[in-house]
Amino acid sequence: MPSSLTEAVPEPRAADLPRVRSVYIHSPYCVRRCPYCDFAIALFRERVPPARFLRCLELEIQRRAPGLSPRTLFVGGGTPTALKPADLESFFQILDDNFDLRRVIELSVEANPENLRPDRVEVLARRGVTRVSIGAQSFDETTLRRLGRRHDASQIEHSVAHLRAAGIRQVNIDLIYAVPGQTLAVFDSDISRTLDLGPDHISAYCLTYEQDTEITRARDEGRVTPLSASREAHFYRHVRSRLTEAGYEHYEISNFALPGARCRHNVSCWRHQPYLGFGPSAASFVAGGRRRNDPRLADWCARLEAGEDPAIERETLSPERALREAMMLGLRRSAGVRESALRRAFGRGFAALDPTALARLSDLGLIEHTPERVRLTARGQEFADGVAEALL
Ligand code: SF4
Repeated sequence: MPSSLTEAVPEPRAADLPRVRSVYIHSPYCVRRCPYCDFAIALFRERVPPARFLRCLELEIQRRAPGLSPRTLFVGGGTPTALKPADLESFFQILDDNFDLRRVIELSVEANPENLRPDRVEVLARRGVTRVSIGAQSFDETTLRRLGRRHDASQIEHSVAHLRAAGIRQVNIDLIYAVPGQTLAVFDSDISRTLDLGPDHISAYCLTYEQDTEITRARDEGRVTPLSASREAHFYRHVRSRLTEAGYEHYEISNFALPGARCRHNVSCWRHQPYLGFGPSAASFVAGGRRRNDPRLADWCARLEAGEDPAIERETLSPERALREAMMLGLRRSAGVRESALRRAFGRGFAALDPTALARLSDLGLIEHTPERVRLTARGQEFADGVAEALL
């Protein structure tokens, strides 16, 4: 995004903020970078100590949205639970002091198994966390090592036990599939061990080769061989059928939930509802405007300490772009996109889409298209990005 846009769009007006029901907070610290990860993270050994991050987080909330009363909060990262218990305590104190949390119905926190120990879990439970998303990725030693993960299967099991003992019932387990060398049998065993733990939510992601990551360099240098697209699709069909047979609703391309356990925060984002993001790299979307904070922790801090806006990218979505985005996000949901919802939001329905593409994708069995709704078929979900691209 050109930086010239930075000055073009003002901060959302205070009048728009009461409509914002969802808040994302980025806690950037990780112990080390996993080889497939391109998120904005900071390592503890770098020059910004957590105390400075916490001070700046409070500054940002106080400047941009003091007293906001969200319904959902999602704390992601990084690894929020990599903070020491005392810092984690301060983190939640900042939320308590600066937001009105009385109407919160979901407070989600991402966590890694190696640091979901009783001391951290106790802080999460006492501070009203309702949902914890565990970055398990696999239960298989070899797969975990290939992903550069620092935990083992027993730590995943202990994490779930600690959460249950502390009274946190909503637990998501993240899995990654199509890891080089991973067989379907290994992945099948990952699914079984996940189901044995009885989480109410499971996310299953295909390994992606992001730019400038260690795993992509290894692929480009021929040191690892990615699974073929047809193998990836095979793994996807397998996890989808096993989890739906086990009673999980497949409500988004990569997400499965027991009835009543969908992640409300993410559903709100997929429905193109407004949200505010705080912390390095956090994005916000309010009143048709999008902004993204500086992803480098030290620079995000310096901007706030100098009294500057921490956003380095800002844009106002054109009605056309906003409609396309709403379609892209909506197609990720199994419910698809309703004509009436598009009309309410943009004053235009499916007539805004390319009718030839709609007919062709429908003929290919990739979408289901009625006057009221467009959604991906089971086959279309395997090629979701391509379908969205063709449609939009
Ligand atoms: S723990 Fe998560 S956020 Fe941190 S480096 Fe690994 S994948 Fe990225």
